[in-house]
Amino acid sequence: MNYANIKDFDVADGPGVRVSLFVSGCRHHCKECFNSMTWDFSYGQPFTEKTEEEIIEAMKPDYIQGLTLLGGEPFEPENQKVLVKVLKRVREVYPKKDIWCYTGYTYEKDLLEDGVASTGVKARTEVTDEMLSYIDCLVDGEFILAQKDATLLFRGSSNQRLIGLHGYKVPEERKRDHEIKHFEGVNIQTRTSM
Ligand code: SF4
Repeated sequence: MNYANIKDFDVADGPGVRVSLFVSGCRHHCKECFNSMTWDFSYGQPFTEKTEEEIIEAMKPDYIQGLTLLGGEPFEPENQKVLVKVLKRVREVYPKKDIWCYTGYTYEKDLLEDGVASTGVKARTEVTDEMLSYIDCLVDGEFILAQKDATLLFRGSSNQRLIGLHGYKVPEERKRDHEIKHFEGVNIQTRTSM
């Protein structure tokens, strides 16, 4: 698996301050995708053991609430094989931090059932259930331009859902245009789209 970027201080892709991993490879090709360079599975650089260590280290500060996976598409079958190991490790090292994951696949239809998705591949693999077992909040569904709403919390279009798994309580639904978060005396302007 290749990855495009790691953000050590992300306040836009989940609650609190987070470490975010942008993986490469996405077959959805949504119109006006926010990150279309990551559609290419060979974009960016190879994800290695050193990269995993970098993530573990970046998550160490108490102010980091958790890890977010996005892309690209974390649930492309090729990426699941690598990410399931990363999530397992993060869970072991930081059992109290939360894990969010964005996917263009639909939770019930593509990840829980064994059919071929609209991308032409089966998103459900032998490690999908394990991967889901480590995830607290799944943000699912393709970005649909006609349903774009820049005021939605942590997502870009209204078809997309924040799904709390294993009893995880997702943040309260509300508009948050130009919300200012106060963090350690620093004002952080948060953005509103995915
Ligand atoms: S699923 Fe996400 S990364 Fe993939 S094309 Fe759609 S918006 Fe872009």
